[in-house]
Amino acid sequence: MATTAQPELDFLLVGGGLGNALIALALFARRPGVKVGLVEQGRALGGNHLWCFHAGDVEEEAREFVSPLVSAQWPRYEVRFPELSRTLEEPYAAVRSERLDEVVRAAFAAQRGSRLFLECRAVHVTDRTVKLEDGRELRARHVIESRGPEALSSSERAGYQKFLGLEVKLKRPSPISHPVLMDALVPQRDGFRFLYALPFSSDRVLLEDTYFSDDKHLDRARLEQEILEYAAKSGFEVECVVREEVGILPLPTRLRHVPNPAPGGPLVAGYQGAWFHPVTGYSFPVAARLACAVARAEPDTLRERAWPRLVREQRAQLRFCLLLNKLFFGAFAPDQRRNVIERFYRLPPESVRRFYAMSLSHADRARILCGRPPRGFSLSRALSSSGGDSSPSSVRSTPGGALS
Ligand SMILES: Cc1cc2nc3c(=O)[nH]c(=O)nc-3n(C[C@H](O)[C@H](O)[C@H](O)COP(=O)(O)OP(=O)(O)OC[C@H]3O[C@@H](n4cnc5c(N)ncnc54)[C@H](O)[C@@H]3O)c2cc1C
Repeated sequence: MATTAQPELDFLLVGGGLGNALIALALFARRPGVKVGLVEQGRALGGNHLWCFHAGDVEEEAREFVSPLVSAQWPRYEVRFPELSRTLEEPYAAVRSERLDEVVRAAFAAQRGSRLFLECRAVHVTDRTVKLEDGRELRARHVIESRGPEALSSSERAGYQKFLGLEVKLKRPSPISHPVLMDALVPQRDGFRFLYALPFSSDRVLLEDTYFSDDKHLDRARLEQEILEYAAKSGFEVECVVREEVGILPLPTRLRHVPNPAPGGPLVAGYQGAWFHPVTGYSFPVAARLACAVARAEPDTLRERAWPRLVREQRAQLRFCLLLNKLFFGAFAPDQRRNVIERFYRLPPESVRRFYAMSLSHADRARILCGRPPRGFSLSRALSSSGGDSSPSSVRSTPGGALS
């Protein structure tokens, strides 16, 4: 195999999914003239994905490069439980992979000296080199690898978050105008179950049947039928299904300790490097934060100083979230899990926001953990009775609810 000499780049990114796409955009925004190479085995960047996230979790600095990616955004969202219905005045957003592909391609085209290597598979990656399947060897001052969830080192898992989503076209305008993140009024089975509804426009909605379950079995035909029944009962008149999405995300209780970076190895970003939220499976806010930090760091000291600090911070948040998974699946029977989540949504909105953003304070942790099973946690009851929840969100609690 012939090795062609390539000019040295500042950064080489291996894997063109969410993690590295955000790192590339952050570098272009913050470091004019930076030379970035991105290696992706597929034809397009981002695969076939819809990434949703709480827009408030994305820090100011990241908004400049995240905003052009956003396909839809809403100012608020809602959750529904037997004893609590709550609308949180917190923005929620969605990014489609097609848009990510378009924006990142345009950014590379505009950046002299930077280059996309599409349909190129990396077969050997070190701290400064990437060998491609076709024999070429690329070099850079820094190599960052983000090859996705499959590349995450083995973990002990407690359960799974599994879902089937149908994006449907409607015959009549959607009965909702903002997302219903959890409609947990649906019959509970197979762990904690809820319907998720995302109205993209008046005639386009994503409906997702989601389970926090002990196993990864998913009966696709049954879920499809139940989503359509739910749609009919909830006032969505479906004309046709335009897209389907299936996810089975392991929810770990422990991750194998792998040095990041390993001696002589690349910096590891994305899901592969455990830059994700182990309770929700979301990774967008963490990925955006990491991208900003990489772009902000002095390239000369990124590997020795900034990166190890970021890894330490992420691991501290990870430890607590892994503990939550252990408690959720280990300490609560499947039929009690809905109560736990209902209880969580009684917390002040800033704690809910920081939970999703993975930037929990010590007080947030205490609020989440304190209390008695099976409902768990009584601290927010104390807070609410002392007038501690001065949230801008609207809360409707049926008699007997902890906010009453
Ligand atoms: C169905 C599903 C829905 C999700 N929804 C959300 C959501 O709504 N919000 C959210 O925040 N998170 C969500 N996640 C979680 C997470 O955000 C995604 O998994 C995210 O895409 C992870 O980013 P990443 O860069 O680590 O990996 P990926 O986006 O998977 O990117 C990895 C890339 O590396 C490429 N690659 C792999 N090996 C090689 C190689 N040897 N050479 C070259 N290229 C290679 C792959 O082709 C791929 O494009 C979801 C996950 C799934 C599975």
